[in-house]
Amino acid sequence: MLKIINPANDQLVSEVSEDSPDTIAEKYRLTRQNQPAWAALPLRSRIKIIENFGALLNEQRDRLAKILTAEMGKPITQSLAEISGVQKRIEFFTAQVKNITNPETVHTAPGVEEIVSRPPLGVIANISAWNYPYFVGSNVFIPALLTGNGVLYKPSEYATLSGIEIEHLFIEAGLPAGVLSSIIGGRDSGVQLLKQDIDGLFFTGSYATGLSIARAVADKLIPLQLELGGKDPTYVCDDANIENAARSTADGAFYNCGQSCCSVERIYVHEAIYEQFIEVFVDNVSGFISGDPMDERTYIGPLAQRSQLNKLKTQIDDATKKGAQIVCGGRHRKGLGNYFMPTVLTHVDSSMDVMREESFGPVIGIQKVSHDNEAIQQMNDSPYGLTAGVYSEDRARAENILLQLESGSVYWNCCDRISPHLPWSGQKNSGLGATLGSDGIRAFTRLKAWHFIAP
Ligand code: NAD
Repeated sequence: MLKIINPANDQLVSEVSEDSPDTIAEKYRLTRQNQPAWAALPLRSRIKIIENFGALLNEQRDRLAKILTAEMGKPITQSLAEISGVQKRIEFFTAQVKNITNPETVHTAPGVEEIVSRPPLGVIANISAWNYPYFVGSNVFIPALLTGNGVLYKPSEYATLSGIEIEHLFIEAGLPAGVLSSIIGGRDSGVQLLKQDIDGLFFTGSYATGLSIARAVADKLIPLQLELGGKDPTYVCDDANIENAARSTADGAFYNCGQSCCSVERIYVHEAIYEQFIEVFVDNVSGFISGDPMDERTYIGPLAQRSQLNKLKTQIDDATKKGAQIVCGGRHRKGLGNYFMPTVLTHVDSSMDVMREESFGPVIGIQKVSHDNEAIQQMNDSPYGLTAGVYSEDRARAENILLQLESGSVYWNCCDRISPHLPWSGQKNSGLGATLGSDGIRAFTRLKAWHFIAP
């Protein structure tokens, strides 16, 4: 049995049966059997079911948000915002899917017609993370279903109850049974899922797991998409609006307790405004209310995983040994729950783990730089490349910097932002392939080229 523990108070929320190798194989068999009929439905019928799913999410938002908060500690207002946010993805995908799946005549000549069509991949596996289960899940299962795929959806063991709710909502929305099946459990269930004869693998999670998954499926020669971690930097130029930049980056660093793939993880500030920026930034952080995630006033909840408390402490110890200063926070809160105090470190540099490896918690390092080129060099000095941003009043200056950053998404005067209209992709160790945008729909189809020659 999988025990679901509330990270805010260490209480048992629920116990859930895990899938076994046999039940996973059976779910695969059923999905394989049911997928062709699903793909054969008219697109408008598939769109209707996805819209029904969106309507149910809205209707049951409060109940679903409480479940998400209880199992992973996300503050309730942020759980509500995540569930509501799925609508924008549904609107984008349902509006765009026809443009992508309609066969396209690409060439005609007397007696010759050449057409490209995009049938579904078949049965895909969706192995998902816990930090935004509704967002990262829907980036995959919505376009996968719309394009006619069957889906084996494995929610994270830290967001299992939300994963089960998602499967139930799809059935309530009219999705035929056995077109999307949840696979319940942790690593072992994921490993078993990879052994099935799947036609595509869509993974969201850490770099280490992504790498082992890529190796595990290499011999299958199937499309593989990896949405992995980051160490996302942002640079505050000397001409930036300090109040806005400090407010925005503090939110970007601490929203969801810093547990976002695109959380701001490193801040570089021009020396001309460094002291002033730190003061305003720390003022913002001191205003964050930490506490019971079910309380609407709470902005910082517990960490979802207890092991993170030690990881953060180790990063902070490493940094302070090498000369970093703790401006606020720096340790976990005693008592029940996985609470870590919001922590700001200064006098940091790239020799410190906290400026190199994903923290995935409420900890941020702020480093002084002398000019734009130094900021660019520091921001690119990372094995990751998910997002990077610049705060400046001057768009041309910002664009010139952003052009040089090795990053899948770049931001001017914003951070920690995802749009369904734009592809979401990581460079370097941050991933492979893209979700969202029109490429995030094409990814679930294969190309078929038709040569028609009149007799
Ligand atoms: P994780 O890698 O620990 O687990 C992800 C999923 O993989 C879980 O469902 C887990 O059960 C499963 N899994 C673990 N080992 C497996 C194996 N050997 N074979 C098959 N499945 C296996 O990641 P996590 O802790 O759930 O998520 C946090 C990480 O995800 C962070 O690094 C974060 O940056 C990243 N993330 C990235 C994005 C993005 O879009 N780039 C979005 C959200 C989270």
